[in-house]
Amino acid sequence: VIEIGKPERTVVTTCAYCGVGCTFRAEMRGEQLVRMVPWKDGKANHGHSCVKGRFAWGYANHADRITNPMIRERIDEPWRAVSWDEALAFTAARLSAIKAQYGARALGGITSSRCTNEEAYLVQKLVRAGFGSNNVDTCARVCHSPTGYGLRTTFGTSAGTQDFDSVMDADVVLVIGANPTDAHPVFASRLKQRLRGKNGKAGAKLIVIDPRRIDLVRSPHIAAAHHLALQPGTNVAVLTAMAHVIVTEGLVDDAFVRERCDVDAFEDWARFVADPRHSPEVLEAVTRVPAADLRAAARLYATGGNGAIYYGLGVTEHSQGSSTVMAIANLAMATGNVGRRGVGVNPLRGQNNVQGSCDMGSFPHELSGYRHISDGNTRALFEREWGVSLDPDPGLRIPNMLDAAVDGSFRAIYIQGEDILQSDPDTRHVAAGLAAMDCVIVHDLFLNETANYAHVFLPGSTFLEKDGTFTNAERRIQPVRKVMDPANRDGEGRGMADWEVTQALANAMGLGWSYTHPREIMDEIARLTPSFAGVNYARLDAEGSLQWPVNAEHPDGSPIMHEAGFVRGKGLFVVTDYVPTDEKTGPRFPLLLTTGRILSQYNVGAQTRRTANGVWHKEDVLEMHPTDAENRGLADGGWVRLASRKGETTLRLKVTDRVAPGVVYTTFHHPETQANVVTTEFSDWATNCPEYKVTAVQVGASNGP
Ligand code: SF4
Repeated sequence: VIEIGKPERTVVTTCAYCGVGCTFRAEMRGEQLVRMVPWKDGKANHGHSCVKGRFAWGYANHADRITNPMIRERIDEPWRAVSWDEALAFTAARLSAIKAQYGARALGGITSSRCTNEEAYLVQKLVRAGFGSNNVDTCARVCHSPTGYGLRTTFGTSAGTQDFDSVMDADVVLVIGANPTDAHPVFASRLKQRLRGKNGKAGAKLIVIDPRRIDLVRSPHIAAAHHLALQPGTNVAVLTAMAHVIVTEGLVDDAFVRERCDVDAFEDWARFVADPRHSPEVLEAVTRVPAADLRAAARLYATGGNGAIYYGLGVTEHSQGSSTVMAIANLAMATGNVGRRGVGVNPLRGQNNVQGSCDMGSFPHELSGYRHISDGNTRALFEREWGVSLDPDPGLRIPNMLDAAVDGSFRAIYIQGEDILQSDPDTRHVAAGLAAMDCVIVHDLFLNETANYAHVFLPGSTFLEKDGTFTNAERRIQPVRKVMDPANRDGEGRGMADWEVTQALANAMGLGWSYTHPREIMDEIARLTPSFAGVNYARLDAEGSLQWPVNAEHPDGSPIMHEAGFVRGKGLFVVTDYVPTDEKTGPRFPLLLTTGRILSQYNVGAQTRRTANGVWHKEDVLEMHPTDAENRGLADGGWVRLASRKGETTLRLKVTDRVAPGVVYTTFHHPETQANVVTTEFSDWATNCPEYKVTAVQVGASNGP
């Protein structure tokens, strides 16, 4: 027990959980962290925090943490603890041999949204400049890659348009496919403030589009004006019906469209949505949302003043994820709700640095700043800086790497801070891909599920053990500061931050990197990335944070994007036709499963399950409507078997009318449940983002696991 008194020193740093990016004062006694106190000057959190950032940091010292590098020749052999030098030499030799035998495109890597910008940048640089391929991807593949595609196509860049504070000027807030109370709690508090109203200012009106009755729909002093409880998988149909109302009832902001958007594309889109086939009355049969509610919600969003849209993975993790993002952008442009405070299109990013890992060139087709690898001028810039020739062809995405591994053409992967076996869909296929590879390198804090298939385990460093930066969901780049020395010390007492490990691996492969501090990596990023041109550590220390783009045009950064014009020039309307998912219910699998998160846990729980937060949520449960439970003779609290065409698992039942009849819901925080054994192989047509949110399932009684 540590008595908390006056700390001996404090270090201001940034939370390693969600995309809100709260900053904290880490209070230290000697080398021991005793408390995390939300920092009152934090620009993203203004002194607030949630139970994850404040209390769930104990995983840093958890007994499960692996602190020594380990290797093995084959995955059926026991691990052998070795020095960093031996582990890196073993890894480099194996990677080089695979490259010599099968070619550069047989190797790839995955950057981590848990790690810093500088670390993500180095992993993609290692893959491109060291391995020699563009086979680099990131966890955004399974969450917000459709945001990347959709917002870049319509607006010109892959990021939310507003800062969080902007919501205080919203008059109507549309939340679609997001549950901020659980997944983005500190932003949710600010949103609720605005919804409640204050100081004589009436609260903003709220529209929720979600198959589940999330907390926002009805919470103290807040009642959504409209909750469109749609059938999972019909987002595009709902948004098309709303667009139909806006166009056919003359609610378009003509001046905005004429001045700011591609008018020909608008006219094509307007003709499409105005077609009687897209009326709320016709689409009601698809969406199961009453036409009158669709009409009322559309009118409110278009005419209620400043309209702000916030969305999450309930938008992106669908076979039409990219289409849904573009349908949202279409609505915002048609109503003139882009380019000023209180409006905009805002993806609520799940992970602390998923925005940053995407910004840093973690996609197989893009270098940092979202510039396509096929662009010769961009490639030449990087080739000069890095002193190598780059492959001009886009590389493989995570699912394609796994497919190619099963086929035998992809042989080695370096995975930093990501447990793809637990977090990616179709667990059996992921396992088959990993098992087929000759070299799987897992660089992580714990022996995660993926490590069962690894030949090399490189122990990682926590956010408390390194310097760097994270970029939150409002494009805010914030310092991460070293609070304690890395615990990942080998037998020789040498510990390394993750960026140092990647650099050591690069050098073991002969690349000759010589960064002495992450600030030098950021300087390189700024030289190569126009939207980061004005970012450096001196400014971050002085100003606390910077919102990109930061460059000659925006020397002080950019709280609001697309103010004078869209990044792509004219905003582009895109016709988004509703296409039903291939995942169908039927007599064997009559229910639709959708998934989400809970406040106290985080993603696959690798961190939060190893902290005091574990007491608040010990297991994933399946939510089912009372009618469905009664029809199956299932009781609240009993064990049930959840099965799909892909697999099955066992979990406890919670009977609740939060979900509609025909829909069931669970979280995916616990490896005992492995909810993704039931999810399908279907994915977004543009980005391969998995369709986690729609799985046809059956549920029956079980005696337990
Ligand atoms: Fe803030 Fe998110 Fe961390 Fe909670 S998890 S403290 S909301 S950054």
